[in-house]
Amino acid sequence: MSAIDGLPPLREVIAAHDLSAKKALGQNFLLDLNLTAKIARAAGDLSGCDVLEVGPGPGGLTRGLLAEGARRVLAVEKDARCLPALAEIAAAYPGRLEVLNADALALDLLAHLRPPIKVVANLPYNVGTELLVRWLTPPAWPPAWESLTLMFQREVAERIVARPGSKAYGRLAILAQWRCDAQIVMRLPPEAFTPAPKVASAVVHLRALAEPRFAAEQGLLERVVAAAFGQRRKMLRASLRGLSPDIEGVLTAVGIAPTERAEQVPIEGFCALARALAGERDS
Ligand code: SAM
Repeated sequence: MSAIDGLPPLREVIAAHDLSAKKALGQNFLLDLNLTAKIARAAGDLSGCDVLEVGPGPGGLTRGLLAEGARRVLAVEKDARCLPALAEIAAAYPGRLEVLNADALALDLLAHLRPPIKVVANLPYNVGTELLVRWLTPPAWPPAWESLTLMFQREVAERIVARPGSKAYGRLAILAQWRCDAQIVMRLPPEAFTPAPKVASAVVHLRALAEPRFAAEQGLLERVVAAAFGQRRKMLRASLRGLSPDIEGVLTAVGIAPTERAEQVPIEGFCALARALAGERDS
């Protein structure tokens, strides 16, 4: 891709700007521009979209997003050392790349963009899950973004797409799949990164549904799911005891055996439970 954007290979960029990776910032860089282009393509058609990228680092994925035709990229990077390298990319794509030197956790980044919005990022592992949960729990649904295409540790990616009955199924799967289609679109070994992290990674693509899959109040659903998986080995009649004086009756009424464990209950079941508890509360 160097030939396409006229910019130097990433190894040269890193050497020129002395971007030795900092562990504290979760810096594991992708230096293969074919790979970053592939991640950008996994986000679907970017033309006509504003893209939010968190943690551009030396800019491999940023270059992929711009080359794939993003209308505009807002790249938010905490490490000021990366700014000169990112400025070179901005110069190669006039008017299309804005770089913000900031902590992504401290800002409402989506407010800076114009729909349709896609979020694409090779996230720092230490902030990835927190940002995902924020993006999945906006004040109203549908959210400002159309899709999220995000790199995670593979184990976290498996938890996002997990199905009922599996060990990975829990709060993250329900939060994600209640209102999104979620799938793993790429798996990457540690060696794909420089330096190589200890664990494998995967890219998850989440597409926001126009409406939740099943009706439920978000806050109540979160409480039910947190209680159920907080003690995932216990039967639901025990783990959910604090939610209703007659939890066995409520469970039975929505068709869930009180002896069932959280892991076995599909999202539809948790939503039915949240609705029944809302009914009990409001009666
Ligand atoms: N996107 C680049 C790539 O694919 O090679 C770099 C990915 S590296 C895993 C994560 C990047 O996020 C680093 O550049 C790091 O400095 C940046 N970062 C870490 N914490 C951040 C935060 N809270 N806000 C914004 N950027 C952050």
